[in-house]
Parts: sequence; C-alpha cells; structure tokens
Amino acid sequence: MRYFIIPIFVPHLGCPHQCIFCNQRNITGVSDPATTPNLLEETVSLYLETWGKKDGFKTQIAFYGGSFTGLDLELQKSLLSRAHNFISRGEVSSIRISTRPDYIDSEIVSLLEDYGVDTVELGVQSMADRVLTLSGRGHTSADVEMAVETIKGYDLELGLQIMPGLPGDTPDLIMNTVDKIIKIGPDFVRIYPTLVIKDTPLEKLYLRGGFLPMTLDEAVSICKNALVKFKIADIPVIRLGLQSTPELERQGTIIAGPYHPSFRHLVESAIFFDMAERLIEKSPLYDERLTFRVTSEDYSYFCGQKNGNIAKLKERYKKKDIKVIREMDVKKGTLELVTDSSTFCIDHRKLIN
Ligand code: SF4
Repeated sequence: MRYFIIPIFVPHLGCPHQCIFCNQRNITGVSDPATTPNLLEETVSLYLETWGKKDGFKTQIAFYGGSFTGLDLELQKSLLSRAHNFISRGEVSSIRISTRPDYIDSEIVSLLEDYGVDTVELGVQSMADRVLTLSGRGHTSADVEMAVETIKGYDLELGLQIMPGLPGDTPDLIMNTVDKIIKIGPDFVRIYPTLVIKDTPLEKLYLRGGFLPMTLDEAVSICKNALVKFKIADIPVIRLGLQSTPELERQGTIIAGPYHPSFRHLVESAIFFDMAERLIEKSPLYDERLTFRVTSEDYSYFCGQKNGNIAKLKERYKKKDIKVIREMDVKKGTLELVTDSSTFCIDHRKLIN
C-alpha cells in the first residue's frame, strides 16, 4: 500500500526525556508545538486542497516529531478526534502516530484504534541497552519487545525506527540490532544513521571529544549490510537517512555525521557495486569490455552517483568500457553480466551467505 502522508509535527510533545541526539525543532522546522491542535484542521485542509486525493494512495494524517502517547490524554483525544473528523468525511483514510516503546500499553493502543489510527511507529534506535543508556533514551530493549507484543495484539501496522552509530554503538551491535528487529518482524523499518544536530547534548559531547560519528563511508557500508538483511527478510525499509529539508540543510544545523541528501541512493549503489564485483570475480572474463543488464528501476543505482560505480569498476578491473543495458525482463534487485557464451546473474540475497 502506498501512502500520501499529511504530516502534523508535534516536536518534543510528550517526551519525558531529552534524548541525546534529538532536536526536533531543528529537524522539522516547527518551533511552536503549542499551536499544533489549532493548526491541524488548517494544515490538513491545505494539503487536501493542494494535492487532493491521490489515486492508488491511502491518505494518512501522521503525528510526527514527539511521543504522541506521552501527551496528556485530553490532548491526545483532542488531536485524534480532530483528525478523525477527516476520516468521517471520507477525506482521509487513517491516522499514523510515532511514539516511544515505553509509552505503549493495551489501554492506549485500544484508544488509538478507536480513533482510526492504523499505523504506529516506534523509535527503537538500538536493541543494545548500553547504547540506549548512553543515548539518554530512558527505556530498554525489553520495553521495545513488550511494546511490539502489545501492538501485535491489535490490527495495526507497525513500523520501527533505528539509529545506527549512537554513542557506544559498534558495527557488531548495529547488526545485532538489525537481527533482533528482523526477529520481531515489523511491517516496515526506517534507518537514520546518527547525526550531530545543533543544540543537542550530543553536540556538546562531540565538541568536547566524547563522541565520534560514523563517516559517510562507514554509514553507507553498515547500512548496506543492514538493508540487504532487511531485503532478504522481506521487511521494507521505507526510509534510509534523514529526509533533506531546507531546515536540515540550513548552514550550521548538522554539526557532524554521515549526512547525504541522497543517502539511500549511495547505499543501494553500494549493494550493486558489490554484486558487480561478485559477478566479475566469478566469471572468467578477459575481455576489455563488460556488458551488464539491469531493470530500468535499478539503472541509476547500478551506475552510482555521477556514474561513480562504473568509474570504480573500470579502474579496479582495468576495463576500457562498461556497457549497461536496461532490460524489462531483468528482475528488480538483480544484476546480469553478459558474455559471448553465457549470462551470469546475481541478486542481492547472494551478498550474505
Ligand atoms: S527521540 Fe523521540 S522521545 Fe527522544 S526527544 Fe526526540 S522525539 Fe522525544
């Protein structure tokens, strides 16, 4: 199902702690959450007037940027009932909320369902308790497991968000988090490599030398392994890296860390580069030219940003020319290497043995 999301930002509302990495006001550009209830009708109507109902899409009002279920109960009900009015009029299909794992119980989930919420996103960040403690999350991995069990007792879609590279994190701990998330089995995942955002405790820690974010190359490499595992497990990763916005890209908002406006593209391209290497190494090719076939959807991932993959392959394997053919009959996520005598094929699942 594809969604047309109408975001309503409630920055830091309902949050009991200041997580070390978080400054929703800088990320979302919304600085006055007190006005959110009054702005809801106006914002949703404006979205609907501007874009209308999109064919083939499910329109959802999404409360992002805070801990929705940590809000005062009356405020939750007020926001939900205002959003529900749009569902009653047939203008919107459902509601999505994001919240913390330790603010979930059966009573609250029943309330959400009664008001038309059908997607709940939990900020998990890590399944390593040490990382959660060092990041000031105020909950444990056991809270995540309990919250997931509760939500799975209802007819709700469940999304989990993770943040590789938090204080205390290591490549092993990150992959362990990925494995545990796969075992839990959410409907979708978002992956946000940790960035140092202005006016956060993490910025202070970074400036006094107590935290080193991942480099862009490290983040791409770790997210590549994570993405392959999620693909194999058939769990969609609906976002990789923070969405680029004018607020986020304003000079001085990101102090350090592996930010790239097309982070997902870098990661998908890295997967295709590895696939190309596997094919080249397995095929006894002495030709100076190589011909690959991919589906149109994967063409730009295979070529890489500014044809970077092609240039790297040419240099590494001393090839004069690399030809890339877009073919409808090649499966998405698959790469073919064509020679005079045969065609060698690999898909992303082969990258993890
Ligand atoms: S990460 Fe979530 S819970 Fe923590 S401060 Fe930010 S919005 Fe609140």
